[in-house]
Order: sequence, then structure tokens, then C-alpha cells
Amino acid sequence: MTELIEAFVEEARAVSLAVAAVQFSRMAARGAEWTGACPVMGGKDAYAVNVVKGVWNCRKCGAGGHDAISLAAHECGFDLSCRSGFLGACAEVLGRPVPDGAGEESEAERAAREARLAKARAEAEERAALADKRKQYFRERAMHKARGIYFGAALVMPGEGLELREYLRLRTGHDMPEAVFESIRCDLRHTYWHGVDPFGRPAHIYTGTAMIAPFIDLTGKVYGCHETWIDLEVEPKRRPVILDEDGVSLPTKKMQGLHKGMLIPVLGDLRCCRWVVAEGIENVAAVAGLERFRDDTFYCAAGSLGNLAGPAASKEKHPSEKRIDKRGFERPVFVDGPLPKADADPASAFQVPDHVDDLVLIADGDSERLMTAFAMKRAELRLSAPGRVVTTDWPPQGAGDFSELCMELVDG
Ligand SMILES: [Zn+2]
Repeated sequence: MTELIEAFVEEARAVSLAVAAVQFSRMAARGAEWTGACPVMGGKDAYAVNVVKGVWNCRKCGAGGHDAISLAAHECGFDLSCRSGFLGACAEVLGRPVPDGAGEESEAERAAREARLAKARAEAEERAALADKRKQYFRERAMHKARGIYFGAALVMPGEGLELREYLRLRTGHDMPEAVFESIRCDLRHTYWHGVDPFGRPAHIYTGTAMIAPFIDLTGKVYGCHETWIDLEVEPKRRPVILDEDGVSLPTKKMQGLHKGMLIPVLGDLRCCRWVVAEGIENVAAVAGLERFRDDTFYCAAGSLGNLAGPAASKEKHPSEKRIDKRGFERPVFVDGPLPKADADPASAFQVPDHVDDLVLIADGDSERLMTAFAMKRAELRLSAPGRVVTTDWPPQGAGDFSELCMELVDG
């Protein structure tokens, strides 16, 4: 190697990973860690470049290294095991050609490198398209299954579905108007699937009455369903105790198909200008009862707090809550913050149509207060619009949620 080339290589070796990461603009810094898509394999956060530790790796390719040269070689497809590839990567790092053109890759080498890169990219694209297709297939299958469950459940006609009617009366303190059952259905023998049987088939571990509600989009089309198993004998929530094989209590509510970005209609018309929305069906039904089922209002549930609040811009340290980690140390607890994520996909959370000018959000009083307060703030900010009043109704202190409040009214 001539002195000139030696100096050139030394200069390239001295370039830090941080500088190289800036050079490849697809990468974004998150503290000491830079992440980004792999130039060959794609994937939003395939790369991890830690500029403090001075290491990088690409999870998609299984490649990695300790310096800017290896990172540049991965970016541009240089083969570091040959001289021309190594010098090419150095030239990429320094942003100028190899001095005197010495040891520079030949036309043929460059063509071969570019062909190699193009082939790898095409293969990665093909794999990504296939993965997308598979994802779409499973999404559609889950959606069809959910539709099958909802439309397979019985319509509750006047004088029928007494168990479901009684469940809602006990949980909300009010007899539900018939219009509620235009949306909410009932299945008297609803199977609870959990785990697999000794033959590897899905196992059914419980069968009983369930309330079946649809998840719809703003056009009213059904994309998913919400299942709630009911047992009137079990106080206070009137839901059965379903145990897995280890005796652990399982949730008695399940969601099927698509639910993010969707809503559960409980009472009223989507075209109403006033909407009242809670996380759970029982809660919004209780509020509807307290308001005497206003006919200018559409009452609906989001199904989960996450779907109501939407994704957060950041996490916040909880001022008082602590958790104990595996080694017995006290650690802070982080909760999703009050600001909505700026570039969130509208399909990632519950939406409200433009014509709604009065939106009432119902908070749960029985969840952790700060986490809930932040979530409700996110929902308020995310769903606010010019000419629309958005408010959050909190149940009285110590009352739990509106459903519990109304249950006490029934008992009392
Ligand atoms: Zn890669």
C-alpha cells in the first residue's frame, strides 16, 4: 500500500459510527441508539447502531461490526474481504474517491456489486410482499370468524334473552330499551376456547351464555366482535369463573377480528351529533340509563382503553408508583403520557365522524388514576375538532365506574 492509501484508510478508520449513521439518512437517533431500515432487507427498525458502545448490527441480515467502514460496506454492498471492496467502503465513509484511483474497484467489480445488491433487494421485496399477503390473509380470516360469531348469535326479540336483559339490568341499574338489542346479541351456548387438547386441536374449556356485540367502522360494517360470558349467580360482576389447567382465572371478555379503530354501537344512531363513549359496554349503558336514554345521542363503547385513547407520544414516569424488578430493586413505573402520538395511523384507534359536535368521554374510576387521566387526555386531544366540544365525565370519587355506581343503586 502506498503511503497515500494508508493515510486514506487511517482517516476512514477514525470516522466514528455516529458520523456514519448521520450519513445514512434513513436512520434516526433515539438517545445513544440509532435505528432504521436495512438498505437491503428493509424493516423499519432492522438496524441498531449504538454510538456510545461503538457497535452496530442488522437483525435482518445478521450482519454487524464495530466501525464506520463495516457499516458503509453493509449499506453499499461492498465485500470487505477483497481489497477493492474495503477501499470502496472507506471511500464511502469519507465521501471521496480512493486517491489516484489506486486499488479502486473495476467497472466489472462495481457492476457485480450493484447486481448483488439489486438481487438481494428484489428478494427482500418479494419476501416482504409475501409476508404482507400472509398478514392480510390471517386478518381477513379473523374478521370472517368474528362476523360468523356475531351473525351466528341470536337476535334478541322482545320477551327473549332474559338472562342477557337481567345481566345488563344488574350491571347498569336500568332495564335496557329494545333498541339496544338491535346491536347486542346473545348466544346461550357460547364456547370458550383456550389452549389445545392432547391432540393439538383448540380446546373448549367452558360453555355458557354470552353477550355478543359487534365492532363496526363508521359506515356500520362489522369487522369484529366482542364476547362477554355471563353468569348471574356470580356477584358482583355476574360473570363466570373460568379457570385454565393451572387454576388461573381467565378473562371473561374476548375480542375477535378487527377492533382497533372500530367501535361497539350500544344505542342510537351513528348520525347523531352527540356521542357518548366509554371503554366498556356496561359502563356506557349505565350512563345511557342515568341520562334516560337520550334519543339525540349515540352511545357506544371502544372495547379497550387503548382503542379509546390511542397511542401516546411518550411515556411518563409515575410520581409515586414503583415496581420491584427481578433482582429485588425498586424501579420507577412508566405510563403512557397525555399527548397523542403525532403521526399515528387513524386506523390505530377509535374515530369520530365530522358531524359530531358534542363528544362525551366516560372515564373508568376503578383503574389506576394517573394512567386513566393521561389516557382520557389523549382521547380528548386526539378527538377534538373545530366546533366540537369534547368533555370527560368522571364517576364520583370512590364510586369505581358508572356501572358500579348504578349497581349500588339497584342493590340499595
Ligand atoms: Zn441488513
